[in-house]
Amino acid sequence: MSNVEDLTAWVADRRADIVADLTAYVFQETPSDDKALLDSGLAWVENWLSNRLGEPDARRQVDGGQFGDTLVLDYETDNESDSWVTALAHYDTVWPRGTLVEWQPRLEGDSFTGPGAFDMKGGLVQFVWALKASKALGLSRPNVRLVINGDEEIGSPASRAVIEEEVLRGDAVLVFEPSANGALKTSRKGVGIFQIDVQGLEAHAGLDPESGVSAIDEIARVILKLHQQTDLAKGTTVNVGLVQGGTRTNVTAGRATAEVDVRVSTQAEVHRINTILEELKPLHRDASLTVRGGWNRPVMSRSDLTAQLVTAAKAAATQLGQDLEETSAGGASDGNFAAALGLPVLDGLGAVGSGAHARNEWISVSEMLERTSLTAALLAVLNETPDQWSPGRRDVVPSSVGRN
Ligand SMILES: [Zn+2]
Repeated sequence: MSNVEDLTAWVADRRADIVADLTAYVFQETPSDDKALLDSGLAWVENWLSNRLGEPDARRQVDGGQFGDTLVLDYETDNESDSWVTALAHYDTVWPRGTLVEWQPRLEGDSFTGPGAFDMKGGLVQFVWALKASKALGLSRPNVRLVINGDEEIGSPASRAVIEEEVLRGDAVLVFEPSANGALKTSRKGVGIFQIDVQGLEAHAGLDPESGVSAIDEIARVILKLHQQTDLAKGTTVNVGLVQGGTRTNVTAGRATAEVDVRVSTQAEVHRINTILEELKPLHRDASLTVRGGWNRPVMSRSDLTAQLVTAAKAAATQLGQDLEETSAGGASDGNFAAALGLPVLDGLGAVGSGAHARNEWISVSEMLERTSLTAALLAVLNETPDQWSPGRRDVVPSSVGRN
């Protein structure tokens, strides 16, 4: 355990290398919808990982079709352990090809800015350097399986099945998504994305108004009904963020659509919203209405096993003289999939900074070094306390998770 005390200094000595890795990684543009850039970005990541960590003990690459491939790399431990920790890190970002032309990665004092640095390239860099530190200082750790996916920002359509399969082979899940001002994320809302399509009947609005059935009139009622379902006390938000309809002012609208983002904190609210959506009906008998979409990510709730991971993380932080908080988050991540399968999940282990998906996205380099140490220390604590966070994990039968 004494080696844990050397962590902070060891990592601090590698500050320049860590910043250089982050800079090089941010220079790999990896928009979720650009397969060519995702392919070259993932190849870069794998090459970089080999340079930093050596060859993995096992490797699997899953073809993502039109989406980014998923790469699964096993790094077995040198010490005795049959526990497995799965680390999740997506390599895609929300930033389109060419963003770097106007926005280059830049370090000013302690603040590093660049597209995707906070969400979540910094997180993977931290994790990689934590593994490197762990090895260099002879710290113990469980076996680690790193799952790197390239479609998280669009809901993980291709990687979800891979992630679910891989996390079930392990005992606990660490997610290197950005922190919330340094706090871990131990619960996250579930997210549903729906589209309501209304079909009306076009007619001349002035000459023949009785023949028309306005889809806009119908969709307006739907929007009001949906927005009434927001219940902040229960953690539920419903937002129609996009509306389209009609063709011109003098024609009753034949079509209208509304796109809806729903976020909930409990399964009961999932059911309530489902019922509302199922019961949506047009007012006019000649209008028709359909609902498409579904629940993109299940609710991630804080289980007893997750609480054990928090305890381990706080113990690691204490060893390093760091403060560590936990919080719940409105945004979802791939951690939601793992939690819904009954696994303990610690999310938000990644960068400290702010501005995810925003042009001012930045991270703190000094905090990056702290998180790197924290991760290595956490792995050491987990290695010493496997019974607390993985009791009988492998006997757990996963509850089935709804897919859309
Ligand atoms: Zn992210």
